Amino acid sequence: MTITPTYSTQLLIGGELVNGTSAALDVLDPATGHVLVGVHQASNEQVDAAVAAAKSAFGAWASTPPKDRAAALLALADAIDADGETYAALESDNAGKPYGAALADEIPAISDTFRFFAGACRTLTGAVAGEYLAGHTSFIRRDPVGVVASIAPWNYPLMMAAWKLAPALAAGNTVVLKPSEQTPLTTLHLARTLQDLLPPGVVNIVSGLGSTVGSRLINHPDVRMVSVTGSIGTGQHVLEAAKASIKRTHLELGGKAPVIVFDDADLDAVVEGIRVFGYYNAGQDCTAACRVYAQKGIYDRLVAALADAVTSINMGTQRAEGTEMGPLVSAAQRDRVAGFVDRARELGHVEVVAGGHAGAGGGFFYQPTLIAGATQDDEIVRREVFGPVVTVTPFATEDEAVTWANDSDYGLASSVWTNHAGRALRVSAQLQYGATWVNTHFMLVSEMPHGGFKQSGYGKDLSSYALEDYSVVRHVMIKH
Ligand code: NAD
Repeated sequence: MTITPTYSTQLLIGGELVNGTSAALDVLDPATGHVLVGVHQASNEQVDAAVAAAKSAFGAWASTPPKDRAAALLALADAIDADGETYAALESDNAGKPYGAALADEIPAISDTFRFFAGACRTLTGAVAGEYLAGHTSFIRRDPVGVVASIAPWNYPLMMAAWKLAPALAAGNTVVLKPSEQTPLTTLHLARTLQDLLPPGVVNIVSGLGSTVGSRLINHPDVRMVSVTGSIGTGQHVLEAAKASIKRTHLELGGKAPVIVFDDADLDAVVEGIRVFGYYNAGQDCTAACRVYAQKGIYDRLVAALADAVTSINMGTQRAEGTEMGPLVSAAQRDRVAGFVDRARELGHVEVVAGGHAGAGGGFFYQPTLIAGATQDDEIVRREVFGPVVTVTPFATEDEAVTWANDSDYGLASSVWTNHAGRALRVSAQLQYGATWVNTHFMLVSEMPHGGFKQSGYGKDLSSYALEDYSVVRHVMIKH
């Protein structure tokens, strides 16, 4: 029933689909390790041409009325939905996602992102207008920033492209987008649709390594803003690059989400929640429910029930019937995850109660893994694993749980599980995370912001806050 897509490998520069002129990089199927296709990277000259095309398209796009920019974004959303099976197949082949989940979960969320921003850009308001000095009228405008360099990660390739493109375009900016070199296929497929639906140069797509293509892009003097979703190290490179020409930056840099489970929580709901939200996308998710703190009265029952639930997760190839979890994206990522688990296993106080090993065969599988008895100072509790690994740590009091939850370099997402409304409100208020869910985790909607603080970065994706991030506030004053 699923289709076999053809792989687009061309870049989009100034409205033309062109082959990259630097060396090709292999794009792999993570379930087998086999090469799907080679994609030639953009050369320095092509990156420069992409920025030049975005710069020359900026004036006309910025002055395109919001209703016309909205029409283009709505057409893009429709095109993605109409071609949803192809996008899902590409994402599944390249990123290792179960095909059914890519089709049912990701594609509708991606098209909805474009639809939300199509509507939102028509309602963007300046806060005030009036006479603040006798004989003068002032008003506030929100105008686009200019050329935006957008750098996407490998875990949700098309969704991250949508999160970056939609608000930037809606606000009137032009964009040069670089997908992850590991997972460029959906973005390169999107290039064809963008070529049809947008004026030349409004979106340009260049593919290649971060250290070459990405670096050239973020250092380009004509780029006014850099938006990156990636690791903290990459965020630091962006900040360094921004220094020279004082670029705006928008950074989404990972997470280590605490999940606080109180004794009075609904055990079945917690188990089901962690089974889904801890292991979705094989745990390669910056909001994954990976760092569980369980109160002592529920801890033993939770560990036992979770061990069974986690063991029941069906790991398999992307298109096999019933696959709930696919492989990790690469051998390097699988080995990194294995390293974290192996080092944790050596600690005397820790018990690996489910999984804990790489899968057999040539693919990059790693078993869904549950680690009990981890303590606050353990590496596995403190560092982002970015794989299908959840730890459970017992706690005694509410204060202890909040202190440990906040004792992290990250500040992206968190959740609280309790049937006590007052406790839910009190704890939510104290958590230093961009999002806190109560009795659920991981749920995102286009209307609400996603983004963190501390080393998780800053800047919001989704919601009208993203539209604000991709625009500048200006004051115009008129003497009567
Ligand atoms: P990464 O930082 O290695 O790469 C992200 C992107 O940055 C890639 O396109 C890469 O080519 C590019 N890049 C790397 N070095 C660069 C440089 N010097 N200059 C310019 N571009 C460069 O991250 P990844 O491994 O692709 O993704 C995983 C990371 O992303 C995890 O840490 C994860 O938590 C984070 N992430 C965060 C969010 C969020 O919303 N906060 C969402 C998804 C992923």
